[in-house]
Amino acid sequence: MADCLFCRIVAGEIPADIVAENDGAVAFRDVNPVAPTHALVIPREHLENVAEIAAKASATLGDVLGLAAEVAAKEGIAETGYRLVANTGRDGHQTVFHAHVHVLGGRSMGWPPG
Ligand code: 5GP
Ligand code: ZN
Repeated sequence: MADCLFCRIVAGEIPADIVAENDGAVAFRDVNPVAPTHALVIPREHLENVAEIAAKASATLGDVLGLAAEVAAKEGIAETGYRLVANTGRDGHQTVFHAHVHVLGGRSMGWPPG
């Protein structure tokens, strides 16, 4: 989608600090990090949220979650732990409507989330 920010990052039209990639997904650092490690893992294909990945491209779920685990290992937080977050829709406070999973770690997370 030409007017989608994350599609433009996948296409290389907008610069991003890429952490890792595989056939179906790309991981890059969030421009406004809220934890020492804060990356976003997105499908290369434009899909609006995780539910749409599951409905239309379920194999890509493995690419996204597998890459999230790879990012955690690369960042050295696989052992200490981390959080995967997929804000979805209005109540989930999703602001970019190209599916993404936040990988957050490097500090202890609060629970419940706000
Ligand atoms: P959401 O609120 O939809 O779950 O998360 C969207 C995330 O995208 C936010 O954490 C925001 O900081 C990040 N973001 C928005 N625009 C850009 C950008 O141009 N580059 C990068 N790297 N991250 C972005
Ligand atoms: Zn997109």
